[in-house]
Amino acid sequence: MMDANQFRDHEQLLYRHDRQSGLKAFIAIHDTTLGPAAGGCRMWDYDTELDAQKDVLRLSRGMSFKNAVAGLELGGGKAVIMGNSRNGKSEALFRALGRMIDSLGGRYISAEDVGITVGDMEIAAEETPYVAGLTKGENASGDPSPATATGVFLGIKSAAKHKLGSDCLDGLTIAVQGVGHVGYHLCHHLHEAGARLVVSDINRDSLDRVAQEFGAEIVAPDRIISVEADILSPCALGAVVNDSSIERIKARIIAGSANNQLARDDHGQALMDRDILYAPDYVINAGGIINVAAETRGAYDVTWVNAKVDRIYDTLKLIFDRSVSESRPTNRIADELAQEIIEKARKS
Ligand code: NAD
Repeated sequence: MMDANQFRDHEQLLYRHDRQSGLKAFIAIHDTTLGPAAGGCRMWDYDTELDAQKDVLRLSRGMSFKNAVAGLELGGGKAVIMGNSRNGKSEALFRALGRMIDSLGGRYISAEDVGITVGDMEIAAEETPYVAGLTKGENASGDPSPATATGVFLGIKSAAKHKLGSDCLDGLTIAVQGVGHVGYHLCHHLHEAGARLVVSDINRDSLDRVAQEFGAEIVAPDRIISVEADILSPCALGAVVNDSSIERIKARIIAGSANNQLARDDHGQALMDRDILYAPDYVINAGGIINVAAETRGAYDVTWVNAKVDRIYDTLKLIFDRSVSESRPTNRIADELAQEIIEKARKS
């Protein structure tokens, strides 16, 4: 059953089929060296159990790296529920998920991911204390998007400093793909910093809001990749950098919140070959997980969150500098940095 390419140093893989509720779910714990494995729960209409298993293994490993580089005392884990998030939900399903999470005794802490709402997780939280990302309760961290947007803003400044010689964004043109939760807050920061905004979205209301509030120029979704801009900030979809888009990118920097921006790992090298600086997605978008992590420490402490989010600027500087000195792409350097942090903790 194990695909050798996906099962890479994972500690544990749990599968549960709960007949009464219909829950079919996997939880993967990749690494707990730094602390309990933390990562959201995704609900997706996977074709087969094998597809779900591959996804949970890949995503949980990504969480180990993301949490390590963000300086969190958390390992990496992830849950996936097989099912349709539009019509496949029930209270019994999320109670069963809560019991499944609870059976791991705190080795895995869950939260929301694609297809899962705060309401869903609040049901699971009635069965287990090992759920974060809630909006109610004394430790509740609330919407993570503002913290994510602040981290992306600082990451953009760090990238600008490295590539353009200054982290002043005044007068730069920044193309933002997707002005939803994160994109909106990011546009606010960028506008205040004096940047000229070009935006795209498939939601007209979201576009009108940033046009009115921040004077953003709107372009069609298929144009945003190739607009004349200093910086491209993907804040909508994954796989934005792919075989067909890469030649069309005119920006000198790619720095945004979207997860899995590179369709394949080797697109990191392709960007480097084109002299485009890429801010690795899981490093620049860590503000959200930092915000959620605050819940796992007890009372929510905004000072602790801000200090961790501020570090994104310097972490990216380190990655950019190493990429230049070692002539290797930034995504590879980020993965190695994460592995070094985990290895060092394991040895100590
Ligand atoms: P969101 O759903 O609120 O916003 C995404 C926006 O992208 C929406 O407005 C949507 O209409 C738009 N969109 C969809 N398809 C598009 C297309 N083809 N072209 C242009 N726009 C399109 O999501 P969000 O919470 O703002 O997250 C944005 C991205 O950042 C996602 O990839 C998410 O996984 C990632 N991320 C978010 C957080 C967070 O704290 N919310 C944290 C880490 C990573």
